[in-house]
Order: sequence, then C-alpha cells, then structure tokens
Amino acid sequence: MSNQKIFVTQPFLPPLEEFLPHVKEIWESKYLTNGGPKHQLLETTLAEYLGVEHMALFNNGTNALMTALQALELTGEVITTPFSFIATSNALLWNGIKPVFSDIDPITLNLDPSRIEAAITPQTTAILPVHCYGNPCDIAAINDIARRHNLKVVYDAAHAFAVHDKNGSVLGKGDLSILSFHATKVFNTFEGGAIICQNAEMKKKIDNLKNFGIEDEVTVSIAGANGKMSEIHAAMGLAQLNHINEAIAQRGQVDARYRAGLRNITGLTVLPKLNQTVSNYAYFPILVGDNYPLSRDGIYNCLAEHGIRTRRYFYPLISEFPMYSPLESAAAENLPVATQMAQRIICLPIYPDLPLDDVDRILSVLTLAK
Ligand SMILES: *Cc1c(COP(=O)(O)O)cnc(C)c1O
Repeated sequence: MSNQKIFVTQPFLPPLEEFLPHVKEIWESKYLTNGGPKHQLLETTLAEYLGVEHMALFNNGTNALMTALQALELTGEVITTPFSFIATSNALLWNGIKPVFSDIDPITLNLDPSRIEAAITPQTTAILPVHCYGNPCDIAAINDIARRHNLKVVYDAAHAFAVHDKNGSVLGKGDLSILSFHATKVFNTFEGGAIICQNAEMKKKIDNLKNFGIEDEVTVSIAGANGKMSEIHAAMGLAQLNHINEAIAQRGQVDARYRAGLRNITGLTVLPKLNQTVSNYAYFPILVGDNYPLSRDGIYNCLAEHGIRTRRYFYPLISEFPMYSPLESAAAENLPVATQMAQRIICLPIYPDLPLDDVDRILSVLTLAK
C-alpha cells in the first residue's frame, strides 16, 4: 500500500488567476480595509447565497462570537455544549459569562433539548448551541425553551455554512448565528467570520461594535473592538464563492464513498444523515465501538502509521480543560453522553480534492486493522 501522506483537511483554494485581479484592484484603489468595496460586495453576495437578510462580516469567527455576546448584552450564565471547539466557551469567559454545560444528544451530538431546562437558573440569560459538524440542532425545541424562559439564543454555526434543515437555512435562526471562515472551514477567507442577525437595527449595532463603537468623527457611542474584515480577505471570499457549490459537491462524493465503504466494517458507526437536511459535508466523524478490534486511539495511531492524519474532534471535551473543569456542570456525571462520545469519536480526512483512491486506501486500512 502507498504510504503517501493524507492530511485530515486541506484549505479550499479558488483558482489563483481569479484571485489576482482582486489584488491588483486593491493595490490600485489603495483601499485596504474599513468596509471597502470588496467587503461590501462579499457581504451582500454571501448573504444572498446563504439565504439570509442581515449579515456582518468579521475578521474571524471567535471575534464574531465574542461580539455577538456583547451585542445581546449577555451576562450571568449561558447554557452551552462541552462537545465543541474551545472557542465556543472561551468567548463566554472573555465576556465574563459563566458557561453552564449541558449534555448532548447521542445521535446528533448537539445539545440535547430535553436536558436544557434542568440547567436554567435565575442567572441564565441565553443558550449557546453548536451545529456540530454542520448537523442542525433541534432549532424548534431550543426556540421553544428560550421563548418560555425569556432567554436569547446564539448559534455557533462555525460548521454550518450553507446547511439547511427542513425549514430552510439554519443560519437565520435564534437571535444571532456566527460563522467561521477559517482556512480549515468549508468556505474560507484565510481567516474570517460573520454574524447573522434578524434586523437592520441589530446589524447597525454589530457593525458599530466591530469598529470601536465609532459613529462618526466625533462620536463614539459604545466600547467596541476591532472585528473588521480586510479587503484582501474579502477578495478571497469573492473568488471562492464562484466555486463553492462545486467544492461542497466534491466533499459530498467523499462522504458517499466513506458511507458505502464503512457499511462493510463491523464496529465503526457513521453518524446518520438527518432527514431533509442539506449537508455541507464539513467533517466525516465516525464512532468506534467495543466490537472493533482497535480503540479510538488505536485507530488514530494505526492511521498515523500509514501517513493518514485524523482528528479526535471533540476530545478532550471543553469541560475537561482547566479553565472549565472546576465548574459544577463540567462533572462527567453531568455529561455522560458527551463523555462517552469524546472517547469514541474520530474525524476522517475530508476536503474537496481528496482523491477517492485515498478514501479507498483509508477504508482498506480500517478494514485490515487488528
Ligand atoms: C472554527 C470554530 C470557531 C472559531 O472560528 P475562528 O474563525 O477560527 O475564530 C468557533 N467555533 C467552532 C465550533 C469552530 O469550529
């Protein structure tokens, strides 16, 4: 078997010749940042592509999330998932908010709505769910809980670019959603992100917060930060948008190849395709069962020996890191499903130009592993 390296992900790059004319225009205009023409064009075309009305671009997803929490003026406690990338909870701590971890659903690996209410206290101001791996949360159930308890909902939709559930795009839901356009994500601007909001008034507030709170030359109304996306980053997004459907379709072919191959391998379980969901195939997570000859870490090491890189997303759980582990809600007994899933999960390589032959090579390593 060939031993050529396979990365777990590779950035999606548009043709260079479609990016370079943007660079030339930026040089000629000397407009480098501060809501220039590339920024404006990307903001409107991307919103249209995603089927959302109000969007504010950011320099990264973490900044977008921290600003989203500021925009809603959240305080006290926010209920969130331990099964995510560390940025989800770090954004709460940076806002002086106490994360309260609630357990996940064993099928979707998203916050389990039936557990959320037990975590609500008089200090709770919001719920911060994650559409993990781009699989939609139970938006209707979360919305219902939020409405009954007068809570805000901020979706960390960093994985959910262009994802739809049976009611359309998942991105316009809740009070705010944030996206990440980091190099490793389905759609990237090198670094970048966005907040999606419900109305023009909120967009104005967010735009203000991302530009130091400056209203005009002599008026600063609010203690904002710097979340602006530069023109070169926006140009990357514009060049990429022309090819994003094709890139997602290629990811879909990788996904289909894995699903077909894994049907014949006992002990490895693929997360089910959710009904009426339009996926972006952002990740390919599998669960390693007791009836597979290797443990999860055994698979990780075995594939690495064959030059195949994988990621144990999301192990360790956020709740296990030292900033969070002293919290009462971080106890493993409070998070039995997340704790078990973190031991079993492994994400296989997936990106648009991953050759299907490489997928077959990965599948044959998994088939022959002992
Ligand atoms: C990538 C990611 C982020 C952070 O986005 P950046 O653009 O890298 O700052 C936040 N949450 C989740 C779930 C992510 O995967």
